[in-house]
Amino acid sequence: MRVGRTRQRCGVDGCEWCAGAGRPCRFCAGTRRWRPERPLRDADGVIGWVRVEEECRMCGGTGREHNPLDAPAAGSR
Ligand SMILES: [Zn+2]
Ligand SMILES: [Zn+2]
Repeated sequence: MRVGRTRQRCGVDGCEWCAGAGRPCRFCAGTRRWRPERPLRDADGVIGWVRVEEECRMCGGTGREHNPLDAPAAGSR
């Protein structure tokens, strides 16, 4: 595996989202980084939320939209 390079593709071979013209990812706005909240259990067992910054998973770190809601779903509806 190659690590540490700026990702142009999400790793899916022949990914149509990467190959396409590409809109910016709506989750990271094309920045490739997002800040989701994660559940975190503290010492008392209370679940809280902590905000983390990580590579955007919704676009595989490419900054391109990978799951448009308006895309036709294959085989459903
Ligand atoms: Zn892709
Ligand atoms: Zn993204």
